[in-house]
Amino acid sequence: MHTEPIRRIAESSARFYTGDAMTSASAIDPIVFVLRHTHWDREWYQPESVFRKRLVDLIDELLGGTPNEPFLLDGQAILLRDYLAVRPERAAELAKALQNGRLEAGPWYVLPDELIPSGEALVRNLLAGRRALASAGRRIAG
Ligand SMILES: [Zn+2]
Repeated sequence: MHTEPIRRIAESSARFYTGDAMTSASAIDPIVFVLRHTHWDREWYQPESVFRKRLVDLIDELLGGTPNEPFLLDGQAILLRDYLAVRPERAAELAKALQNGRLEAGPWYVLPDELIPSGEALVRNLLAGRRALASAGRRIAG
């Protein structure tokens, strides 16, 4: 299903890895890096409450998991607020995981639709994402 994009990433990584623009990606074995992650839909084929429970279960598991395995929750920070609305007592643990890189989220507040919003809406989405990340304990540069 996602073979083509992964192959293209692998080829571009392979070219970058060799440092030689003339090197054919097919002449060497590509190196593929996969970061443990999820893509999060707040509501889709199940009601929001079902997805919220899955989110809480996932983050509960990650907070209790192996410390040296980073996990990218998604490109949207709103899921941190969704989690903390259910588990406010785990705010300090979540903040620590965000600070030490064990968990990553954002930078968007919600995943942007590239076709509908204006440029200003995209910027405001990023700013709201920064606020949500900061409020969850993630240190924000600049
Ligand atoms: Zn989706």
